[in-house]
Amino acid sequence: MFIEPHLGGKNRKTGWIEVVCGCMFSGKTEELIRRLNRALIGKQKVEIFKPGKDVRYHHEQIVSHNETRIRSTPVNFANDILLLAGDSDVVGIDEAQFFDDAIVDVCNTLANGGKRVIVAGLDMDFEGRPFGPMPNLLAIAEYVTKLHAVCAQTGELASFSFRLVDDKSQVMLGEKKEYEARSRKAFIDGMKTRK
Ligand code: ADP
Ligand code: MG
Repeated sequence: MFIEPHLGGKNRKTGWIEVVCGCMFSGKTEELIRRLNRALIGKQKVEIFKPGKDVRYHHEQIVSHNETRIRSTPVNFANDILLLAGDSDVVGIDEAQFFDDAIVDVCNTLANGGKRVIVAGLDMDFEGRPFGPMPNLLAIAEYVTKLHAVCAQTGELASFSFRLVDDKSQVMLGEKKEYEARSRKAFIDGMKTRK
């Protein structure tokens, strides 16, 4: 489990960036919510954002596959986060892979300004390629946590998101019917039968 190096409190002088990554169902959203709830317990001012295009479950909440939830603000562009972060101490961002590349500068600007920034997102897309701005976010973060799901085929650890339906677009919102977590071998085997 990730143990915060410190929580900062109201007298924090410097900010930092944490990235939580992994495949679908690996528990990124749960982990993001856990960290943000602890910050709230510490009476920190918390703002949470997600991309406007992620309309699964709820428009103004972040909800995990396990139904834990937290209020959030949907935004269409990464730069909107700068405008809306205000005087918060902690900024949480979910589904960061869907944001434009400006998200990298946005996170740096927030952290440079003294905020703790916690970013969760898919590190790979359904073909196993690095997803959107995630590689750059991983590079600039002070703390990186890679989570694993359980392979739906083998019960091993899973780090790939396998798409069960035939759709080639990189962004296809989906759930259990459309995706399953797979180990490398089960993912490769599945990709072979698809082609
Ligand atoms: P993520 O944000 O990474 O997609 P969530 O935090 O929303 O993941 O959901 C994690 C939860 O999903 C787990 O606690 C578990 O209850 C559930 N779950 C469903 N399928 C799986 C799987 N194959 N491996 C692990 N957890 C799974
Ligand atoms: Mg999630």
